[in-house]
Amino acid sequence: MTEATKHFIGGDWRAGAGPTFTVLNPSTGAPIAEMAIGTPEEVDEAVRAARAALDGGWADSTGSERRKLLLRLAALVAEEAADLGRITAEDVGMPQVFAFGEALFSAEYLEYFAGWADKIQGDTIPVQAPRVLDYTLREPVGVVAAIVPWNAPTSLTLWKMAPALAAGNAIVVKPSEHAPLVPLRLMDLVARAGFPPGVVGCVTGTGPETGRALVEHPGVDKIAFTGGTETGREVASTAGRLLKRVSLELGGKSANIVFADADLDAAASQACVACFLGSGQQCIAGSRLLVEASIHDEFCERAVAAARGFITGDPMDPSVQLGPLISARQLDRVLAFVEEARPEATVALGGARLGGDLARGYFVPPTVVTGVRNDMPIAREEIFGPVLSVIPFRDEAEAIQIANDSPYGLAGGVWTNDLSRAHAVARALKAGTVWVNSWLAVNPSTPFGGYKSSGVGREGGREALGLYTEVKNVYVQMR
Ligand code: NDP
Repeated sequence: MTEATKHFIGGDWRAGAGPTFTVLNPSTGAPIAEMAIGTPEEVDEAVRAARAALDGGWADSTGSERRKLLLRLAALVAEEAADLGRITAEDVGMPQVFAFGEALFSAEYLEYFAGWADKIQGDTIPVQAPRVLDYTLREPVGVVAAIVPWNAPTSLTLWKMAPALAAGNAIVVKPSEHAPLVPLRLMDLVARAGFPPGVVGCVTGTGPETGRALVEHPGVDKIAFTGGTETGREVASTAGRLLKRVSLELGGKSANIVFADADLDAAASQACVACFLGSGQQCIAGSRLLVEASIHDEFCERAVAAARGFITGDPMDPSVQLGPLISARQLDRVLAFVEEARPEATVALGGARLGGDLARGYFVPPTVVTGVRNDMPIAREEIFGPVLSVIPFRDEAEAIQIANDSPYGLAGGVWTNDLSRAHAVARALKAGTVWVNSWLAVNPSTPFGGYKSSGVGREGGREALGLYTEVKNVYVQMR
């Protein structure tokens, strides 16, 4: 194995002073890297470098300078998409073809926010006083701490970097201990794009050590967090205590609602994509499938047939659609939910670890569980695995009631050919995104985030700029 990974601080690669953590390939369980665990001193250096970059000119950079840098980074990410895809496949087990697509999509995200960099503007506001000019300025918040999970490391790192940098902030990234290699590779590209030293930094490490030190650092003005709801609560409570700006993209238990009048073939295949893509390790997984009672049995057959068609295996194989789960711990957790449901529900497909050539990795095939009640743990908890829970409903009102009966509110789906019903249900769902006759469509220009325990704030589109700017009101009394 090669030497331990380094931190990217002040535009330089620095060997870590602390211990290391062994990063495993989830397809084989074999070690692939030793990751440096950032110490509080290293976190402090990165935050100071970010502040120095802001004070040294970045805070006064023009929008067009930032736009050009972001476009250069976008081009490099697109150019290196194959490499980013390969690293993602090895580090987190996402099938390489999807990881390649994720990198290309992330480049578009950078392009979109590059477009905003020179268009962030305030308003002039009429006030109830004579001879007054009142206007607002949108200023960068300052130093942003980006805490990133492992499941989609390219996009989830760049979803924070793109709007933060467009708005003129400096940013320090703390990747997940399970997936540090993509964010580190992105730092290479940041350097090649020509960002001034310190504007972007990366300190790898574990959550309780490095992540916590970054969140608590007095030099950090804003925390942008994506991860599990429990960690999010802790981060939010620290942010509350220290009165830092915070945005949170957290977990989900999203409901995909299929009415009898829908295009059932499309609904069945997309319901499987919605739940199984990324082996179910995505916050927006449509993990609860709500099916109108009149078509329930027939639709379950279609869904099981569609699920059976997914190929689980080596993420480097271009024909593979499902890779492994991220860790042995996650594998045990996922299977425990299925076992717990067995006495009351029916495991119609999957539900066991794959053996043979895949026995060394953490592979679970598409799993469909029917006869689930919405109060069962399999329907309430975010499983983060390829487990689809099917729940029948009688009518529209009951579908809405079941869908909303969840602590989460990240996404929802409606499958119907009745236009009025589609809009009515979309409006009734307590979720940050609703898809009608589709799932998973996420666009750089659209807001993304959750209701309830799924988060605070919206990351995509124009809304994201609000997360990374302070609004200053200027009141000018003219003589
Ligand atoms: P975690 O909450 O475990 O970790 C997220 C990040 O937080 C990691 O970098 C982690 O570091 C870090 N962290 C852990 N503890 C602390 C702490 N005390 N202080 C600061 N940072 C900390 O989530 P996972 O990485 O397991 O990711 C999966 C979760 O992310 C799922 O629940 C999923 O729903 C959610 N998610 C949400 C998305 C959304 O947009 N809503 C998108 C994608 C995922 P380390 O890994 O080193 O412990």
